[in-house]
This record gives sequence, structure tokens and C-alpha cells, in this order.
Amino acid sequence: MRSWRAKLVAAIGVCLAVAVPTGASLYLAHRQSLQYERANADAAAGEVLRRMDAMGDEALEAYQRLAASSSVPCSESQLSLMRAIDTSSEYLHATGYVEGGKLKCSSLGTHGNGIDLGPVTYTSLRGTRIRASVDLQLGGDRRFLVFEQGGYSTATMPEMLVDSRTPEQDMAVGAFGESSRVLLSKRGGFDPAWMTKNAGSAGETSFYDGRYLVVLRRSSKFDVTAYAAIPEQALRAHMLDSLLLLMPMGLVLGAVLAGMVLWAARYRASLPAVIQGALKRKEFTLHYQPIVDLRDRRVVGVEALLRWTRADGSYIRPDVFIPVAEDCGLIQRITAYVMDQLAIDAQKIVRARPDCYISFNLSSEDLHSRQLVDSIEKLLAKAGIEARNLVVEATEHSMIKQDMAQNINAEIRALGVRIAIDDFGTGYSGLAYLTRLQSDFLKIDRTFVESIGTDSATSDVAIHIIQIARSLNLKVIAEGVESEVQAEFLTKQGADCGQGWLFGRPMPLDRLLVEILGPACDESFVQ
Ligand code: C2E
Ligand code: CA
Ligand code: CA
Repeated sequence: MRSWRAKLVAAIGVCLAVAVPTGASLYLAHRQSLQYERANADAAAGEVLRRMDAMGDEALEAYQRLAASSSVPCSESQLSLMRAIDTSSEYLHATGYVEGGKLKCSSLGTHGNGIDLGPVTYTSLRGTRIRASVDLQLGGDRRFLVFEQGGYSTATMPEMLVDSRTPEQDMAVGAFGESSRVLLSKRGGFDPAWMTKNAGSAGETSFYDGRYLVVLRRSSKFDVTAYAAIPEQALRAHMLDSLLLLMPMGLVLGAVLAGMVLWAARYRASLPAVIQGALKRKEFTLHYQPIVDLRDRRVVGVEALLRWTRADGSYIRPDVFIPVAEDCGLIQRITAYVMDQLAIDAQKIVRARPDCYISFNLSSEDLHSRQLVDSIEKLLAKAGIEARNLVVEATEHSMIKQDMAQNINAEIRALGVRIAIDDFGTGYSGLAYLTRLQSDFLKIDRTFVESIGTDSATSDVAIHIIQIARSLNLKVIAEGVESEVQAEFLTKQGADCGQGWLFGRPMPLDRLLVEILGPACDESFVQ
């Protein structure tokens, strides 16, 4: 059952190790190609806008120069001025004189009764009359964009505004009147709905309409907006390019991660045998961490914490090997080992400080068997200490899991040994359950002490735990106290004891006796 669970966890780990980097490379490819395409479209729309603005500037200058010259309309001198304007401008095909909607003459010559320019498509905000598609009768079916202001006109070939020197042939570009929503020039696909989108105060926007990625750029000078649009199939092709680049990296990373997961799973699977060997070779030792009375900082107890240094000098943390030992049924052997060592150490500690208690940790399996009560009795007898010098720690989770645990708890307390509920707040027991649990101390888990004074959602939990403990007549020990601020806060809130780096780290017995339990300690017990 356990190995089946371990295999399932490893299999899920391997799947995730492959899926996450692969998914990430897909996401990155999508994002990167979109960013790239958006930048491309932006540049293309920018180019169309630059041309529109340049054409507008040239037209305005032409009207001004023609109005400023005092030549008679369509006189030879005016025609030569019109020709001079044409030659000096990049986007004006012809400049002319208009009367009653007819082009009387232009840089191309006089036009007899005049060329009918047809109806005005719209009038711009600055009063320019715009005809979007005019046949200037120059032969062929060429159509011109004709602007007219103050009797003068300019004609432009709309293709000039959108023809492209770039290889982005699949990109659609064009321009439309911003307030009139009239299309002035286009190349490639177009959807009138694009004209209804607002370019916003920045004069620029981009959106995806389901078929095209569209960028709009509004002119700051004229009543006109340029657009560039990339069709979906082109987007997909570019994404595929990015994917071909990123996917191999994702796959390699996935393979490396999967290898690491497999290695960790095999390492974990090999640990039970290694733990068994370590128990035989006595590679485990106990360290002790002081627990102080928060009001006067006097040491009132110590917690025994197991340390495992392997023969090769490597250190394995208890939160790695304890869960493995619990999983593979070795935890009771570890607890027995701890209690054997404790019988020797406790004697020395209590001789140094008769009022001091020693606590040690139990797992859920330990609480399952009555043998524990006998072992505790033997420990007390062997160490020659009183029951009040011993405290057992168990998590609320381990106590809840076993029905049997409540009876065993009661028997332990009947001996006079006290019980602490460890890591309180991380489990999920209701208050009602807590009242039925036979215990003496609540240990506030380190995470809630850590969050004191922060914005975290759990920053008030410590206060609530202290209140609960008070109402149930339990003493409170705050774990993981690292700063004076935390210690002062906890004291003010009414916590009784504190444990943490501020008061002392876990340390070997000889150091505990000399440095913490201090001068009261008889040197002969240090050996
Ligand atoms: P725990 O019972 O909650 O023990 C307290 C842990 O917090 C210890 O970690 C201790 O070194 C650490 N600690 C104490 N003060 C501070 C602090 O101010 N800051 C920080 N960051 N950490 C602090 P450790 O020794 O690594 O033990 C981890 C867990 O392994 C223990 O948590 C306990 O659940 C388990 N464990 C240790 N020894 C035994 C044992 O003999 N038997 C069993 N069943 N479990 C044990
Ligand atoms: Ca503990
Ligand atoms: Ca704890």
C-alpha cells in the first residue's frame, strides 16, 4: 500500500516535471510570437501614419503657396507654380484649381470645362473636402484621393500610402478618417468594425478580433488613423517558429526535472534500509533546545530533537527521515531509541535543574500502542526522575487520527507525565475536540509566530490560540521565537513560555549543561 502510494506520487511528479516546462515553453512561444507580431504591426501602422502625415503637410503647404501667389487662376504662372509644388513633394501626384466641384486646371495642364470631381465623400474637422475615389480621366482605371481646400486641390494615389518595402506581405495595412470612419487607403484584408475601436488617449491600441491581430495608430496632426493587421494563419506560423526554438529547451528541462524526481523517489525508497542500518550503528543523537518562561526568561524545560549525521558526514534533517520512518513502520523503533538515550540524558538534566522538564516527540503510531505507557514508566524509573520532569509532545493530527490515542493520553497523564499538543493551529481539529483531548500545553506552531506583526492573513492566529488555551486552562508555549519583537508581543498577549533561536538553538547535551543550565550544573554530570 505504502510503496503503491510512493509510486503514484513519483509518477505524478514525473508527469508534472515533463508537463510544466513543456507547457511553459508553449506559453512562452505564444507570448513571444504575439509580442513580436504586435511590434511588427505597430511599426507598419507607424509607417502608414508617417506617410499620411507627410501627405497632409505637403497638401497644407501647397494650399498656402497657391493662395499666397497672386497669379490669376489657371494662368501660366499658376500652372508652373503647381508643377514646382508637385516636383518638390513626395506624395502629391497633382495640384489643381477647383471651381464648382470641377477641376479647371492642374499641374497636368488645363482641363477645358473642367473634370467633374464627383460628390464630396466627407469634410474633415479642419474643413478640407475629401473625395475618396476620383477618376481624373488620365486613362486606365486609376483612382485618386483628392483633397480640396480654399479652391485648391491635391491628388494622391492611395496605393502610395500603403505600398510596402517590407517582406510582410501577409500583413494588411491602411488608413481611415477618424471622425468620418471612411476608408482612405488599404492593402490586404479589412474589416469596417476596426474603425469603431477607439485608439484611446495614447493614440494607440491593439486587439485581436478572432481573425486578425490589429494595431491602430491615430494621427496627432490630422483627422486620420492608420492600422496594420496580421491574419491568424500568419500568427500561427510565427508561433510555430518560436515553438520549434523553445520546445527542445522545454523538453530538455522536463527530462532533467523528471530525472531529479526519479532520483528523489529512489533516494526516498532506499531510506528505510538506510535508517535501519543507522539505528544499528547508533548514528542518531539527541540535541536539546531550551524552553523559557517568557516573563523572566528562566529556562523551565528543554525539547529533545533527533539529529542524524551519517558515517560519511552528511546530515539528514528530521523532517526528511521522520516522515519516511512513519511511512515504513520504523517510527516506533526510533521512538524507543530516543527514549533509551533520554533515560541517560534526562538524569543529567534533572540533576542540574530539578525543576526543569524534558519533552520529547511522539508520532501517531506511538499513540496507537499501550506499550508506550510501559516504556514511559520504564524511562522514569531508569532515569530516576519524577513524572513532572517529563512532557510528551504529539500533534493534534496524530491524536485525532487514533481513537486509541485518547485512552493512552489519559494513562500517560495518570502517571503524572504532562502532554503538549505540538504544532497547534496547523491541524484541523474543532474546539469541541480540543476540550476532550487530555493535555497540559498548547505549542503555537512556528508559522504563526513568524507572521506576528506582518500583513499576512495568519498574523492574528497566535492571539486566538492564546485565548483558546486560556479558556481551556492550558499553558501556551510559542515555538520559533526569533526576535525580541515577537517575544514581547507574545508575553503581552499572555503566552507562558517561548522556544526559539532567540533563547537558544538545539544543542548537544554537554553544551546545554554548561551554557544553558549553567553554573548550577555539577561538572561531573557533563561527562
Ligand atoms: P518540532 O517538534 O516542531 O520541533 C521544532 C523544530 O523547530 C525543530 O526542528 C527546531 O530545530 C526548529 N526550531 C526551533 N526554534 C526555531 C526558530 O527559532 N526558528 C526556526 N526556523 N526553527 C526553529 P527540527 O529539529 O529540524 O525538527 C523538525 C521536526 O522533526 C520536529 O518539529 C518534529 O516534528 C520532528 N522530530 C524531531 N525529533 C523527533 C523525534 O525524536 N521524534 C519524532 N517523532 N519527531 C521528531
Ligand atoms: Ca515538538
Ligand atoms: Ca512544533
